[in-house]
Amino acid sequence: MRSSPPGVDDLLRLVEALRLLDRSVDDATRVSRLRALEMLKAAASAAQARDTADLAASRHAQRAAAGVPPQERGRGVAAEVALARRDSPRRGAQHLGLATALVHEMPCTLAALEAGRISEWRATVLVRDTACLTRADRTAVDAEVAGDPAVLEQLGDRALGARVRQAAYRLDPLSVVERARRVERERRVTLRPAPDTMAYLTALLPVAAAVSVVAALGRAADAARGCGDGRPRGQVMADTLVASVVQHPEVPAPAGERGAAVRLVMTDRALLDGGDEPADVEGYGPVPAGWARELLAGTLDRGDEVWLRRLVLSPVSGRPVATDSHARLAPRALADWVRTRDAGTCRTPWCDAPARHVDHVVPHARGGPTTAENLQGLCEACNHAKEAPGWRASVVLDRAVVGRGGAAAVRGDPLSDEPPDDGLADDGPHTVVTRTPTGHRYRSVAPPLPGAQRGQDPRGQSGGPPGPDPLEVQDDGIAGVVERWLAGRLLTGALGLL
Ligand SMILES: [Zn+2]
Repeated sequence: MRSSPPGVDDLLRLVEALRLLDRSVDDATRVSRLRALEMLKAAASAAQARDTADLAASRHAQRAAAGVPPQERGRGVAAEVALARRDSPRRGAQHLGLATALVHEMPCTLAALEAGRISEWRATVLVRDTACLTRADRTAVDAEVAGDPAVLEQLGDRALGARVRQAAYRLDPLSVVERARRVERERRVTLRPAPDTMAYLTALLPVAAAVSVVAALGRAADAARGCGDGRPRGQVMADTLVASVVQHPEVPAPAGERGAAVRLVMTDRALLDGGDEPADVEGYGPVPAGWARELLAGTLDRGDEVWLRRLVLSPVSGRPVATDSHARLAPRALADWVRTRDAGTCRTPWCDAPARHVDHVVPHARGGPTTAENLQGLCEACNHAKEAPGWRASVVLDRAVVGRGGAAAVRGDPLSDEPPDDGLADDGPHTVVTRTPTGHRYRSVAPPLPGAQRGQDPRGQSGGPPGPDPLEVQDDGIAGVVERWLAGRLLTGALGLL
């Protein structure tokens, strides 16, 4: 055995060694190895928890010494943890919460995790179900449930959760009521993609509210079917839900778009020539071209307005270079531009949250201009994290990452997202590098837009100038063709996608 504790390089060698494990072994060895590897994962989780808690403590101490007010000392730490673990900021906050509880309040649970006797998930159950308790009560539950590792490791997820909650209720019944009140404040509505151009709209609600919504939708469906509506009950419930929210008199139309509710980006080929290049629905992702055409036709058939804005992409980089909004330099048009380029999603690597803020990459106060180049879409949490001391961001142009969207490209040093030293080009996709207080750097590359074939001209010409130079479309060709396609269906004469 080595005498000094393993360093980062030793851990990386271990990662490499796991790939080289001998596969020509007997089944007993395979099963033993499964157990040993599970223990390794648990022990790694414990080591991550210690590092995470130590990082938070060290950051707090530094900022206390620098005179930062107490409530701001922890700012950005969860985001650093998230970036290092290549997770979303939300998960980063969970990792930080877990680590803090394990290291400072639940020594028995941490010891069981270190010894590989419970998984990270079971440690999470112990932390989660004691979150409402005082520090002393939490430590008492830790000792009671996790004090005997031999008993602890025999419990399944469910039995463990039940045992923890029993102990918690016994110690502090009032906290259970308080917790119910607290989680009620976390009610919310979220959206996530489902297969086949469907999506899950999820509402986390107090049980009474949720039950009454479903009962009301059920009554609406029964009434409609009683009057001869042939749709299945589930369909009527879903349609009633959509109609009652979208047409609710208190819900304002989105600003500046005169009621447009869906932002769709598709190529002219897909729109006009029956091309099959996937389109993109902001907040959802790729959809088949045929589906997008049907959506448009249906929207027009209902007499709803469709707005079109042409977007010209650079044939080399796939980066948007022109739009035909005459008012594009007005803040609103610029924000739209950034939103389209970033596909409506937060630009932080591994963060899938919708972009809520248009943020200056280099802050305005430090001379950052209000240009599309220096703007990025961020979610609320990431915008907040980026304001923390020691965070810096800058825009780079780098052809080496052409063709990649979303999270950082990693080459060379597997622990870092350091941009490679292979030179900068002036026509790569929009790239932002964020530097955290430890000096780790993470790059975010704007996702490819429909029609972007980076590195080659989608129309067969190679190289050439990156589209019209000013951010203005001069010719009227596409609009003319679209007008013909829409002839007779478009009441307003205005064109619109996007
Ligand atoms: Zn974010």
